[in-house]
Amino acid sequence: MTEARVAIADGRAARDIAPWDHYIAGAFRPSADGGRFETLDPATNEPITSVAAGTATDIDAAVAAARRTFADGDWPQLSPPERASALVRIADAIEDRADDIVALECLDAGVPISQARGQAARAAENFRFFASIARGLTTEALRDGRAFMNYVVRKPIGVTGIITPWNTPFMLETWRVAPALAAGNTVVLKPAEWAPLSANVLAEAIAAAELPHGAFNVVHGIGEVAGAALAAHPDVRLVAFTGETGTGREVMGAGAATLKRHSFELGGKSPVVVFADCDVERAVDAAVFGVFSLNGERCTAGSRLLVERPIYDDFVAAVATRAEQVRIGHPADPRTELGPLIHPAHWERVHAYVREGAREARLVAGGERPGGFDDGNYLQATVFADADRGSRIFQEEIFGPVVTATPFDTDREALDLANDVRYGLAAYVWTNDLRCAHHMAQGIESGLVWVNSHNVRDLRAPFGGVKDSGINHEGGRYSFDFYCDTQTVHVALGDHHIPRFGTGEDQ
Ligand code: NAD
Repeated sequence: MTEARVAIADGRAARDIAPWDHYIAGAFRPSADGGRFETLDPATNEPITSVAAGTATDIDAAVAAARRTFADGDWPQLSPPERASALVRIADAIEDRADDIVALECLDAGVPISQARGQAARAAENFRFFASIARGLTTEALRDGRAFMNYVVRKPIGVTGIITPWNTPFMLETWRVAPALAAGNTVVLKPAEWAPLSANVLAEAIAAAELPHGAFNVVHGIGEVAGAALAAHPDVRLVAFTGETGTGREVMGAGAATLKRHSFELGGKSPVVVFADCDVERAVDAAVFGVFSLNGERCTAGSRLLVERPIYDDFVAAVATRAEQVRIGHPADPRTELGPLIHPAHWERVHAYVREGAREARLVAGGERPGGFDDGNYLQATVFADADRGSRIFQEEIFGPVVTATPFDTDREALDLANDVRYGLAAYVWTNDLRCAHHMAQGIESGLVWVNSHNVRDLRAPFGGVKDSGINHEGGRYSFDFYCDTQTVHVALGDHHIPRFGTGEDQ
């Protein structure tokens, strides 16, 4: 296979897709041992196609290709403007293939098409954005009187392992691949096995942009096999991982022996703190969109509503009403707001939380498979009121269209509830009281806080979590702190004193 072509026809994504292979050293190829796995259409759970199942042998081949290209210098030794031009060509190629990417995200990941379009556009933007940052990167020169001139340089590090999840897979892959390449590293990507297809379009876009062979490689496969081999490979110098917190722990352990540098974007259980004085209608809009968009499979989902008591009942009722009206449908239907969950095993996991939640809190919307959707992994938009802070639905990441609501009486209680989970990715605060907004923003333990806003990103700002939600923050120039080594060069400007040991002189 050299070109993945798919199409949306009659509101459904076409399904005649060739078997998918790895992309290693500039060519598509099957696994060394011929192993394959099937990827399913979340709307039906029928197999879409088979995908090469990589093992340590395939990871070895990909890492060797990436290492050769790095050592040859064809990519790391380019000037920043030359590399930036190549990244812009990748962005152009992604835009040329946007329809294919959107179709694959609908078909393979179940992302509703209206949302998949935005994600494909953002993927191209990731390459354009990091191209522009790479062009403008500067470092410091530190003059030390007349004695020394010291200067700092950023250097590419080597082979970067990138391991990614299945929610909006293409966009999340580009969020890591673009800065890794912009910095001059070479890459081996291991996409998620539940939504592997769009990664090959990224390989094709990068091939179309004529990067040196081996600069970017894709090895598909099961996390515990291919992912684990990449996470432990001695020639991989740094690992960017996006996924569950527990998997992050394993990835970190696997890299310990060779002291790999890690950047982790992990799980979340983000609070939406709503004060009575806010613009309630906008807060309801943002709360509903924030947890039910991307099928609720969103790391920054506002999955815990903390609402000031005077407006609590009305707020919960408004969210429940809107949840019941969220349009559930096939991901390729432009009217669809909520599509199927990724996999039957994930549906079962999410529904187990819903069943347990119904015993722990008050179910006020959803909770079941919607009528008329007998196949696929559809679940109603689900709202629980009066969730107790000790309950599992309050504490644990569900990663589906499920939100809890809990009342609070004071700022202090709101902060206490917001911080009483092990995660710290995002938080949303709704109030028109300036002092309260800043007080909450400073008190909440999270890497990201939005005030009177849903999740609107500024790519120049660092993105990432604290506590169990991540290590390291990427975005803008901050990404280059991870993807580059900084080297300091100290240059003597004159004859400074050097102690003369072994001369018999007093020093
Ligand atoms: P996951 O941890 O199950 O899998 C992520 C990736 O890791 C996959 O490619 C998988 O194959 C691989 N993997 C699994 N076991 C591995 C191992 N032992 N060694 C190496 N690799 C292994 O996560 P998921 O279910 O694909 O994604 C959902 C999770 O991702 C949620 O927790 C979500 O919050 C998180 N997420 C976080 C962000 C963020 O920016 N913080 C963004 C998106 C998703």
